[in-house]
Amino acid sequence: MTPNAVSSGESAANHAAHFVCPFCGLLCDDLPAPASRSDFLAWGQQLQSLCPRAGQGVAALSKAATERPTVVRIDGQPATLDEAVAEAARRLAAARRPLFGGLSGDVQTVRAALTLADRGGARVVHRNQFNMQRNLFAQQSRGALTATLAEVKNRAELVLVVGGTMTNGFPRLYQRLFAPAPVFANEAERTVLLLGAPPPERLPAGVRVESVDCGNLDLLDAVAVLRAHLLGLPVATGNSSNSLASVAQRLRDCRYGAVVWAAAELNFTAADLFVEQLFQMVVDLNKKTRWVCLPLGGNDADLTANAVSTWQTGFPLPIEFSGTAEAHSVAYDPFPDYADADLLLWLAPLAGEGKPALPGLPDGIPTVVIGAPSLAGSAPVDAKGIFIGVATPGVTGTGHLVRTDGVITMYAAAVLDSPLPAAAAVLERIAAALNGEKQ
Ligand code: SF4
Repeated sequence: MTPNAVSSGESAANHAAHFVCPFCGLLCDDLPAPASRSDFLAWGQQLQSLCPRAGQGVAALSKAATERPTVVRIDGQPATLDEAVAEAARRLAAARRPLFGGLSGDVQTVRAALTLADRGGARVVHRNQFNMQRNLFAQQSRGALTATLAEVKNRAELVLVVGGTMTNGFPRLYQRLFAPAPVFANEAERTVLLLGAPPPERLPAGVRVESVDCGNLDLLDAVAVLRAHLLGLPVATGNSSNSLASVAQRLRDCRYGAVVWAAAELNFTAADLFVEQLFQMVVDLNKKTRWVCLPLGGNDADLTANAVSTWQTGFPLPIEFSGTAEAHSVAYDPFPDYADADLLLWLAPLAGEGKPALPGLPDGIPTVVIGAPSLAGSAPVDAKGIFIGVATPGVTGTGHLVRTDGVITMYAAAVLDSPLPAAAAVLERIAAALNGEKQ
């Protein structure tokens, strides 16, 4: 297989009217594909009015494609892909405690990364790991009752949105939940109840929105009081309590409801315990009626990475491979400390936003970055490291991604021609070089 076979192999065959957008976990598949397979710029501008996040994602890739259609560097100097692969393998072989981070790629990329991590005895963590764990720890502790986007869209009369601005990370959430008309719910009755969340943006016409009055209670206390009302436990009286009591009654009376939150917005201590309250509140409600949770995730392919890790190793991320060539082992590593890491292999075919914090990671650690060309020259790329530009699934490359509800794995085909290799192919070549095999 040539390095770019995965991305360019789709070129001629599939020029679809729509594309699978990889820029958040909703993986929308109803927005227009580019008019031609080279039309980066106009397509990015068209998307901007439909979804700013998708527009910005394409614009960043477009800028990079114009300025540096292919980019491979070793310690800041231009290099060939062969040279970079060989040097990455050499540095990986020399590392004692390699760390594989980022992992914002498609299924095949994560599979290749785990194979290489196993070969090199690496620890593995996603860039959104510590947001993801807010949901994961709660789920591991007491379980969860969740539903698909389609089920919520077609059945929910009441959608309780909890904490933060959902459209920050998931701009078209409300279009996905409320348009077109539901199959089983009464369209006229659908209401969004906001609990500790600001008024939503881009809400389709005809959907009612109400804010819950929490008085002087913070979000954690408000949910605790709401749950106490649902369980019939004694609650101190007051304005907020009266308001939450009536909300509890509405939740009970609703025939089908959904609680929606985004773990990335719950940026406070013990957020996993808060999420556990939400999961358990839905369990309480299901004694008399039907409620589900819809925890939003999947940005930067975090659910994809977690799913592949679970299929392949039996553990969610973060994990740690260790052992000898003869006897490998893998372990769940939920509270990692990367202070002793001596090489960071950063995988980012989806570039991501900002610099994620990995606990203990030394400043200036040597890096090998296999990422979208828009990342070249920015964090976490170290000027002294290796950079290999790769295709982005759904845009310049092809791959499978797991959607926010964790049930659907979408096939995101390339919609633009690109000379960039697929990240999975680059990782496979590094593994082959490490094994001393013919590339
Ligand atoms: S909401 Fe998310 S998946 Fe949908 S178009 Fe916007 S960035 Fe893409």
